[in-house]
Amino acid sequence: MRRLAAALAALALTLGPPAAAEPGGGTPFAGFLAELRRDAAARGITDATFDAAFRDVRAPDPAILARTRGQGEFSRPVWDYLVGAVSPGRIARGQARGRTLAATLRAIEDRYGVPGSVVLAIWGVESDFGASAGTVPTIRALTTLAVAGHRGTLFRDELLGALQVLQRGDVTPAAMTGSWAGAMGQVQFLPSTYLGHAVDFDGDGRRDIWRDDADALASIAAYLKDLGWNPSLSWGYEVRLPEGFDLASPAAELPDFAGRGVVRADGRALPRTGKASLFLPGGLGGPAFLLTGNFEVIRGYNTSDSYALAVGHLADRLAGGPPLAAPWPVKAPRLDTAGLKALQQGLAGKGFYQGEADGRAGPKLREAVRRYQIDAGLPADGYASPALLAHLQGR
Ligand code: CA
Repeated sequence: MRRLAAALAALALTLGPPAAAEPGGGTPFAGFLAELRRDAAARGITDATFDAAFRDVRAPDPAILARTRGQGEFSRPVWDYLVGAVSPGRIARGQARGRTLAATLRAIEDRYGVPGSVVLAIWGVESDFGASAGTVPTIRALTTLAVAGHRGTLFRDELLGALQVLQRGDVTPAAMTGSWAGAMGQVQFLPSTYLGHAVDFDGDGRRDIWRDDADALASIAAYLKDLGWNPSLSWGYEVRLPEGFDLASPAAELPDFAGRGVVRADGRALPRTGKASLFLPGGLGGPAFLLTGNFEVIRGYNTSDSYALAVGHLADRLAGGPPLAAPWPVKAPRLDTAGLKALQQGLAGKGFYQGEADGRAGPKLREAVRRYQIDAGLPADGYASPALLAHLQGR
């Protein structure tokens, strides 16, 4: 999203007020709308729906473009993100909501196989349990981003999807609100996700992720089920590694990890079946996790590692689990975005990294760091630290 921010910021300067006349007498925005109306009609969207949707949207909104700078879960260290996302207040609010909605959450778990604690946790991180679902009109947000034209036609396609949602009558234009980036309602679905996965759990004929708690919670569960949630496993487990644990083989069956001396931090037994991979988001010495495929399912909702870890840990806390046992390396130096980019470029130059040099610490960079560490005879914790960058640059 960072390149998006730069592109949109530049565009915000050039767009200005939508006054510049084009040959033919219309403005660029009028031209955009005319083309959009044609494509919308091909999707079965009537002029009445289209006109109602755009009644209050006369131009791209500079205030929305101004909001496009940075995404918290990518630009902060995971422990900073967790402090905000899994705060004592949020745990208390979530547990209270969980008690009120216990019967609904049980029914949702019965139907979709996703634990109520996980559904609650996503609801908590996305909208603080429905309390802050965003008040930006979705058509206004998506129109602004679509006119900006970044990321190909992604936002324009989502805008057409939003018009389809309105055409179905699930929500009115005035009630269709969410984030500046077009994520809607209590569950922050983009329109394409909504069209594919939202459900009407209370059976009133409308899939209401804006005002109906049951529809919102069930839509989260339905989406996770569609993404492949495995009901027999948790998202992951905080673990303790034995002295001298071989970091070079970080993916294995859970019983193999147990056989190699890995134990859960809360003292309970690891499951007897299922695959997992080791995750050291703060490097050796910080919290260690065994992640199951369900962690990847949560990343399907939002690709950030920090997000998925916050959801998993919040779910455990809502279910009465303990805080993380190991301390984070909060005082240790860490790489900023420029440092991460330099690391990605350095690793790419030595053939360890194939992704984009975008300054994001994610699974691709972690795997590249791990392979470099193994090659260099370093402990292979996959952690992108300043010391590692210095090692790479001095080699
Ligand atoms: Ca409903």
